[in-house]
Amino acid sequence: MEEFHYRDERFADIQMLRYRLNGFERLSLRQKQLVYYLSQATLFGRDITFDQFGRYNLLIRKTLETVYTDQRIDHGSEDFRALSTYLKRLWFSNGIHHHYGCEKFKPTFSVKFLTDALHTVDARRLPLADGQTVDALSEIILPVIFDRSVMPKRVNKADGEDLVATSACNYYQGVTQQEAEEFYGIDRREGLSDKCETGGSHHPLNSTLVKTGDGRVGERVWKADGLYANAIRHIVYWLRRAATVAESEQQRQVIELLIGYYETGDPRLFDDYSIAWLQCHDGRVDFINGFIEVYGDPLGLKGSWEGLVEYIDEEATHRTQTISGNAQWFEDHSPVDPRFRKPLVKGVTANVICAAMLGGDEYPSTAIGINLPNADWIRAQYGSKSITISNITDAYNKAAYGSGFKEEFVIDRDTLALIDRYGDLCDDLHTDLHECLGHGSGQLLPGTDPDALRAYGNTIEEARADLFGLYYIADPKLVELGLLPDMEAYKSQYYTYMMNGLMTQLVRIEPGHQIEEAHMRNRSLIARWCLEHCAAPGSPALPAMSLVKHDGKTFLQITDYARLRQLVAELLAEVQRIKSEGDFEAARSLVERYAVKVDPVLHEEVLARYRKLGLAPYKGFINPWLLPVCDADGEIEDIQVNYSETYDHQMLRYSTEYATLI
Ligand code: ZN
Repeated sequence: MEEFHYRDERFADIQMLRYRLNGFERLSLRQKQLVYYLSQATLFGRDITFDQFGRYNLLIRKTLETVYTDQRIDHGSEDFRALSTYLKRLWFSNGIHHHYGCEKFKPTFSVKFLTDALHTVDARRLPLADGQTVDALSEIILPVIFDRSVMPKRVNKADGEDLVATSACNYYQGVTQQEAEEFYGIDRREGLSDKCETGGSHHPLNSTLVKTGDGRVGERVWKADGLYANAIRHIVYWLRRAATVAESEQQRQVIELLIGYYETGDPRLFDDYSIAWLQCHDGRVDFINGFIEVYGDPLGLKGSWEGLVEYIDEEATHRTQTISGNAQWFEDHSPVDPRFRKPLVKGVTANVICAAMLGGDEYPSTAIGINLPNADWIRAQYGSKSITISNITDAYNKAAYGSGFKEEFVIDRDTLALIDRYGDLCDDLHTDLHECLGHGSGQLLPGTDPDALRAYGNTIEEARADLFGLYYIADPKLVELGLLPDMEAYKSQYYTYMMNGLMTQLVRIEPGHQIEEAHMRNRSLIARWCLEHCAAPGSPALPAMSLVKHDGKTFLQITDYARLRQLVAELLAEVQRIKSEGDFEAARSLVERYAVKVDPVLHEEVLARYRKLGLAPYKGFINPWLLPVCDADGEIEDIQVNYSETYDHQMLRYSTEYATLI
């Protein structure tokens, strides 16, 4: 196994991270092969996503890559550096628009620099069509790159405009919004409907709508003998290899259904695949591959291509199984009124996985949790499969550690050392307690309306689950179960939780705004309630926790963790009572008093300290490089994981090895 290097790579508003394939070495050879073949299928779709996000993206990518790598170009000039940054952003966004804001990038190199460069580089490496001159290529791409009025937004959702004509995404060619809606029989007043009496999805995710020469509207389907054929055939080739090493017959059938869908383009096969996929739980390895999310289409019809390969995180799964296996013990010992406890409680085992390869719309920017399929009718009839991706979360945590964030906001070195030692473990454990037990614990009194708390319901529910987790993370039972090493560990969670609730989560709030989001409200509620109630009754001693000033900066100080746990227990009992009795007035006063308002002075201080750290707002991931190791007969005997590849090396390599559409 390669040494894991953490190298920080930054450009524009982006920070690149790496994720580690924990436990990959413990997979069987067959499982490793499966991961490898599925990874190839995940990387071969890359060009599809680029083309979907804008019709000139591939042309511009290839052109700029030629300039970027040609030794005749002066690599020291300011223009060259600006072009490099532009290209890195283009790679990151799978196109020339910002991955999050969707607005077109503003180049800071000059038209003249690019024009000259195109005449300097080896013309054979430029994406010229047969007989096309460099000038003709320039004429096409220069306005797209430099003219701010050309394709300004990838997805336009401004009400009242022709959303199809004004969006740069490539799902509709020469078609107006009205024509697209007529073609699919969409009534704009009723909006889209995914439900249909026959139980099928109405609108195919996998086609481009085009206007033909005679003015008629028609579909070009993405399939092995249709649009994107070359990319799809490569995906199918690797899926076939994957099918030969599937972990079970059921998993093999899932892969076969997907192959059938890619070969025929028949949306019903994608439904069949989705149903079989969500019901398949027997393997350690799993994957997502297809035209999935519709955020990139202003009409929400067409699916952007994405891929993900994953395997079960055994350590995390062991943790959630241990917690769930003891669910009744936790319920019986909780500090709430016995009338509000559940007589029979069943814990949930979360599906925690490690990502092994990210592709298409999931690369390099990716989610930390996924719940699929999207089709409402399938979810209603068959349910869904939900995963949380532990090694991606882990990479985010590690990045936060390296950023100076903790050093800025944590009060002293002892507390920092505590967090360094136990922080990750306790964060994961608190999330597990919240998800696997917290939400499922407790019961309503007979006759209580489940919606009695109305708009305050979400915050109270999240607070209940968080408090359950906070109470038990400090319980000797967790040490006894082997989930925590000692009775010091929980203190790291208490410190970071309260610091976040009182101070650091405010970095996500705009100046002058209040707290709106339910999870943020719940953290504020718990932290500020505890702060207010922590003075020991009738005692002149130091309060268990307080906000103190050092050199004009505010810090959280905790002096009595045991007392803090008593407060957590008290608040848990009260929050459970509110929920069980449906006490709307009490919910309102708790939330309004502790969860919503922001102290403007503290807020401004926290924002200023955060800004000074100069952190990148967006993060993405460099994939590991999976390398097959072969024996003398060419048979794969192992898959090596290499983490040493740089961002630009990986992107240039992908543009060569997985180039299918240009
Ligand atoms: Zn929750």
